[in-house]
Amino acid sequence: MDKHQHPWADCVFVDGRFQPPLDGGRSDIRDKSTDEVFATAGDASAADVDAAAASAVTAQRDWAARGHGERAAVLRRVAAALESATGLVELIMRETGCVAGKAEYEISAAVDELTEAAALASRPVGEVLRTSHPGRSSVCERVPVGLVAVITPWNFPLVLGMRVIAPALALGNAVLLKPSPETPGSGGLAIAELFARAGAPAGILQVLPGGERVGRRLVEHPDVAMVHFTGSTTVGREIARTAGSLLKRTSLELGGNNALLVLDDADVDQAAMIGAWSSFHYQGQTCISAGRHIVDRRVAEAYLRNLTDRAAAITVGDPLRQRTGLGPIINDAQLARARRLLDEAVAGGARVLTGGTNDGRFFRPTVVVDVDPASALWTEEIFAPIAPVAVVDGAEQAVALANDTRYGLVCSVLGADVHRAAAVAERLTCAMVHVNDATPQDEALAPFGGIGDSGLGGRAGGDANLDEFTERRWRTVTGTPVHYPY
Ligand code: NAD
Repeated sequence: MDKHQHPWADCVFVDGRFQPPLDGGRSDIRDKSTDEVFATAGDASAADVDAAAASAVTAQRDWAARGHGERAAVLRRVAAALESATGLVELIMRETGCVAGKAEYEISAAVDELTEAAALASRPVGEVLRTSHPGRSSVCERVPVGLVAVITPWNFPLVLGMRVIAPALALGNAVLLKPSPETPGSGGLAIAELFARAGAPAGILQVLPGGERVGRRLVEHPDVAMVHFTGSTTVGREIARTAGSLLKRTSLELGGNNALLVLDDADVDQAAMIGAWSSFHYQGQTCISAGRHIVDRRVAEAYLRNLTDRAAAITVGDPLRQRTGLGPIINDAQLARARRLLDEAVAGGARVLTGGTNDGRFFRPTVVVDVDPASALWTEEIFAPIAPVAVVDGAEQAVALANDTRYGLVCSVLGADVHRAAAVAERLTCAMVHVNDATPQDEALAPFGGIGDSGLGGRAGGDANLDEFTERRWRTVTGTPVHYPY
C-alpha cells in the first residue's frame, strides 16, 4: 500500500484544509499485525493547536447561528459519506489490529451516532418557567458550550470519536479532535475526510493528531470550554486536575474492571458463550470487557470446562491475511503489562486452564482460576484476552465480590430466573448493567458512562447528550416598566 495514498498523509486538518503541521512534524502509522508502516500522519505542534482554536472560535459562532435543519443536514451527509467510504474497514483493521467484523461494527455504530445526532438537532430544548413577576416571561434555554476538545483512545477510534463529535456539533458546538497516536487515521484524519467530502463548513471540526503534548495543550487552551476525554483512569485523573484548576467543564469516560456474574440457575452453555465474548472480543481491549467472572459453585465446574473449550478453539493471527478470531495486542507496552499481570497472578497461586502464552503480540485467549483477589490481575483493568474466574457460594457472595472495586462501569448477571437475576443486577454498583447478555454493549440512544474510577461528568447517548453538550441559560424578558427603590 502506498503510504501517501490518503489525502491526509503527513497532515493535520485545520480550518477545513489538510495541511502539513506548522513545524513539519509527522508520524508513522503501523499495521499492528506486521509492524509495517502503511500510512503517515501529521504531528500537530502547539502553533497548530492555537491556529485551530482561533479558526474554531469563529466557525462555532456561525455554526450555532445556523438553523438546526442545516446542522442536521450536514450530519446526514457525513453519515452518507461514511456509508459509502472505501478503504475504511481495512484502515481500522490495520490501525487497531482487529477483525473485519469489529471494523464493520465501528462504521455502522458511527452511522447510528450521526443519524441520532441529526435528530437531536431538532429536539425541543428548554422550558418555560413559572415566574412571580407579572409581565415577565422566564425561560430556561440550552445554548452550546462552545469549543469542545475531544481526546480519544485507540481501541474504537472511529465510533468513540463520532459518539462525541456528532452530538456536540448537532447542538451548535465546534470540536477540536485529538485522536490517539496509534490511530490518527480512523480516529481523526479519515473522519475529517468525511466531513470535507460532505461539504461541512470549514472550522467546525479540526483534527490535531499527536500525543500527550497536544492533549495537554488542548486541555489548557483558554478558548477550549469543555474537555471530553475517553481513555485510561490515570490520564483522566491528570486531566481532571488540570481542567479543575482552570474551572473547565470535563467529561471523563475511563477504564473498567467489569464483573460477569453467573448465578446457580444459569444456562451454562449460554453463559460460557457470553463470558467468552465478554472477555475475548477484540483481544479484551475494551473498557467494557469482563475482567472478572464470578461464578456460583453449583455451575462452576461445567462453566469452566465450557469456557476453556471455547477459548482453546479461538484462532489468533493477522486478521487481514488469515481467517482469525483475534488479532494482536495493540503494542509492546500493553503486551508487557498483560504478561506482568498474568505472571504475577500465577506466581501468587493462580492456575491457567488454557492459553497463557503469546507469540509476539498475538496472545492466546486465557482462562485462569484461583486468582488472589488482592492481585493486580483481579483488581486492575486487564486489556488483554484473559478471563479470571472466581467461584462463590450464592448470590450474596457474588454481589459483595462484584462491588469490591473502585471502578463502576458495567456488569452482567446471567440466570434463568430473569426476575431474580434482575434483582441481583439492581444491587450492583455500576453505571450500566445487563441481564442475560454480555458486558460489551453500546447503543447510540443509551446513556453510556461510568462512576467511581470509571468516569466523571456525564453520559454519552440519547437525551444525555443534551446535558452533556449544552449549558442551561436562564432568560427573562420584561415588557412593562419596572421600579426599584433607587
Ligand atoms: P490513554 O489514557 O493512554 O490515552 C487516551 C488519549 O489521551 C490518547 O489520545 C492520548 O494521546 C491522550 N493523552 C495521553 N496523555 C495525555 C495527557 N497527559 N493529557 C491529555 N491527553 C493525553 O488511553 P489508551 O491507552 O489510548 O486507551 C485505553 C484506555 O481507554 C483504557 O483504560 C480504556 O478502558 C479506556 N476507554 C474507556 C472508554 C469509556 O467509554 N469509558 C472507552 C474506550 C476506552
